[in-house]
Amino acid sequence: MNAPSADTTVCEFVMSPNQGERPQGACIDTLLLHYTGLREDALSAWNADPFGEALRWLINPKAEVSSHYIVDLDGRVFQLVAEDRRAWHAGRGSWKDCADINSCSIGIEIVNTGHAGGLPPYPRAQIESVITLCNDIVARRGIAAERVLAHSDIAPARKADPGEHFPWEVLFHAGVGHWVKPVEITDGARLMLGDSGETVSRLQQQLVRYGYGLSVTGAYDEATLQCVRAFQRHFRPMQVDGIADISTLATLESLLAALPEQKPIA
Ligand SMILES: [Zn+2]
Repeated sequence: MNAPSADTTVCEFVMSPNQGERPQGACIDTLLLHYTGLREDALSAWNADPFGEALRWLINPKAEVSSHYIVDLDGRVFQLVAEDRRAWHAGRGSWKDCADINSCSIGIEIVNTGHAGGLPPYPRAQIESVITLCNDIVARRGIAAERVLAHSDIAPARKADPGEHFPWEVLFHAGVGHWVKPVEITDGARLMLGDSGETVSRLQQQLVRYGYGLSVTGAYDEATLQCVRAFQRHFRPMQVDGIADISTLATLESLLAALPEQKPIA
């Protein structure tokens, strides 16, 4: 390994031992955003020093977790793992044809207590730093807008971060990520747990087409509910309930329609 140094000019470097080699030929095509969350066994430490507590955890060999970057509440950024190395932030999950997200991604942890802490808003200074960092990474790595993802997108059954209060719209208007204005919530037909048939298959196909790891079964099962909930957290955050109402279905349609044209493979 080369002497550790930051990949960008926006931060300091504090090396985490929790890292490995990327597999040979691995292509870095995904940027994954997280919140640090709240560890139940570290509440008092967290309250005293949320950034320090999260950082100590990410560089603790016993934790066996890490990320490439961490962004503090005040916007300070630290890099913990060189981008060409494999950090341990994603765990089990998938997106499109990638089933080993750590190998193909760069991970950013954003200090926030998350759902366990009542989903506090992300301070403006922190989001500005996230935007600067993301723009820098995406430009240097040529990462497609639609591959800037939430941890919950790649692991809907296990993860909820960075949560429905994360300002994806603000990032989008600053040039980060793929996003469309969510369609307003109205009354009407809804698909939910226990439903089955063609309309459920179509919903599942659309979620899979966007990238979610889901089987097309025609049955609105627990996995489908979790996937719809993950979709809502990212793209229709006004109501996160795992029920595919008209607004959810229409937002998914418009998101797919707004994707850059996929060139057929020659
Ligand atoms: Zn996460």
